[in-house]
Amino acid sequence: MANRSVFRVLLLGLGLLVLMLGYQLRVGYESALSRAHHDAENLAFALDGQIRAIFRRIEGSLSNIAGQLPKEALQIGAVESYRERVAQILIPLTENFPELGSFYVWDAEGNSLYGSVPPAMLQKRASIAQRPGFQLLKNDPSVNIAYSDAIRGTVSGLQTVAAYMAVRDSSGQLKAVLSGTLNLAYLEQAFKSLQLDKGSVVFIRRSDNHNLVIRYPMRGSDINTPVRNPIQARIDAGETEGRERFKAVTDGEYRIYAFRKLEQFPFYIVVGIAERSALRAWDTNVLYMVGGGCILLLVLGGLLLRMRREERLRLAAQQEVEIMHRLMNEAVDNISLGFTIFDPKGKLVIYNKAYLDMLGDCRDTVHPGTTFRELARLSAERGLYVKAKDRIDAWVAERVRIHEQANGQPLGQELTDGRWVLVIEHRTPSGYIVSNRIDITERKRLEAELKALASMDALTGLPNRRQFMARLAEEQQRVQRKMTQSACVLMLDIDHFKQINDTYGHAGGDMALQHFAALMHAELRSIDSCGRLGGEEFAILLPGASLEAAQRIAERLRLKLAESSVEIDGKSVALTASIGIALLHPADVNPDAVLQRADGALYEAKATGRNRVVVEQGMA
Ligand code: GH3
Ligand code: MG
Ligand code: MG
Repeated sequence: MANRSVFRVLLLGLGLLVLMLGYQLRVGYESALSRAHHDAENLAFALDGQIRAIFRRIEGSLSNIAGQLPKEALQIGAVESYRERVAQILIPLTENFPELGSFYVWDAEGNSLYGSVPPAMLQKRASIAQRPGFQLLKNDPSVNIAYSDAIRGTVSGLQTVAAYMAVRDSSGQLKAVLSGTLNLAYLEQAFKSLQLDKGSVVFIRRSDNHNLVIRYPMRGSDINTPVRNPIQARIDAGETEGRERFKAVTDGEYRIYAFRKLEQFPFYIVVGIAERSALRAWDTNVLYMVGGGCILLLVLGGLLLRMRREERLRLAAQQEVEIMHRLMNEAVDNISLGFTIFDPKGKLVIYNKAYLDMLGDCRDTVHPGTTFRELARLSAERGLYVKAKDRIDAWVAERVRIHEQANGQPLGQELTDGRWVLVIEHRTPSGYIVSNRIDITERKRLEAELKALASMDALTGLPNRRQFMARLAEEQQRVQRKMTQSACVLMLDIDHFKQINDTYGHAGGDMALQHFAALMHAELRSIDSCGRLGGEEFAILLPGASLEAAQRIAERLRLKLAESSVEIDGKSVALTASIGIALLHPADVNPDAVLQRADGALYEAKATGRNRVVVEQGMA
């Protein structure tokens, strides 16, 4: 359980960590992009100032030239005489500023008149008649300044951008055009000195037709061509500065752009910082974070897995214990022995169904935790045990003593409902007392039955010789202890029994024996005992009887028998018996003595005609 909540907390922590990492990365990403935008903006701003200063310088120079140039010098024919003078005006302008290319004076038709180059170079007549800037000035009197695309100088051969300024008379008629150029190589050098990262760009386009003027790093093929991108659209919409972020169509690079229109001049500058360079620091961060996160994840994951495994093992072990417990309970409940375990403090911890069954009506007194003493007392009070009747305290004390001894000796207990239970108690090495109870009611019954059978004659149901002799011995002792006046023994023998056997077979003889036994049994008092001594010989013990009384009883018996008959094979068969009587003497050494004397009397009865009673010699 505790394990599980730790597991949850760890999982939550892991989730939070991932969220935090994600957030951190996101913030890092945004700030890297925003920093790049700032850098681009700052660069664009700085370059804007620089380039505008150059253009202003060119325009200022052109105005200067216009102011100093004599009107007469603008005629083709006057060139030769003015060349030196005009050169004096033009050449100094180029010398102080490396970014400025060359200055020229063109006539109204676009033909070169003067230039800031050595006169030799001007020998070759050049024309700007076809240049769009010139044509604009020529055709539109309201326009006084125009700029060219990037051009390769007709005279110098340098890559430049030219500014054209119209010189008009008072009526607005174009008299001449002055031109000054910006040396693009200079700008290229300036861009290079920015030391932009790989993939980043700086470029200048014309704001009217979007033709590329210069790009760093250089890519010649793009010069003087327009391109479609979001910046162009925004410049067209009149915006003068802004940010953008897109994939360049020309080289497929993702960049963060800042653009700025050059105020007063038909150009805009764009600084594009390659996203991959802007995000380089962030990338490293991502690498570290992801790396660190992965390691943390691995460690935590490992920890979680281990906890899960331990949890699984614990659950499996618990399940096993539960299964074992259930199995044990089922097993204990399914054994037919009454089973209990009491802990060392005497409290009941385990018991089974068979135990409850043995307690019968007292089963409701059984609860886990009940002590043995309580259980013994409650069931004794409810009259469960025969031996506890009317002596509960003593019985309980004795029973608890035996229980605590727990020496494995079987203890038989007779229950008041007739059942017998055998209890065997053992003490385990850890001090628990384990007891088994077995229901021995059936065994007890069988025992009693066997005992009865052992002392009984099977044919007649009368006590056998051994039993009769035991009874006789008992009586002899009573006589010896003078506990009774006298006792007599009768010895009986059926007359001519062989003939019955011979006539009706052994089974017929048996029926005669049974008839004789039943009759004899019916005639006796409850205190009298009789028995079959063997064959067709029987004996009767008459406790407390005198010889006379015995004689009377014997005579009555003899008559009853003689008057009765037994039906064998559909025939009525008559029986007689001879009887000898002897008196039990305190002086007799053993029970056989009196039997011998009775036997003697019986012998005499036989000898003197049978079907008669004879008292022992000397007593009659
Ligand atoms: P007596 O008048 O002299 O006694 O003559 P008796 O024929 O009775 O002679 P005796 O007592 O010597 O004979 C006993 C006979 O009883 C012998 C034996 O075959 C028979 N006998 C002994 N036990 C049994 C028995 O259990 N069943 C039957 N059917 N016969 C038995
Ligand atoms: Mg006999
Ligand atoms: Mg006989």
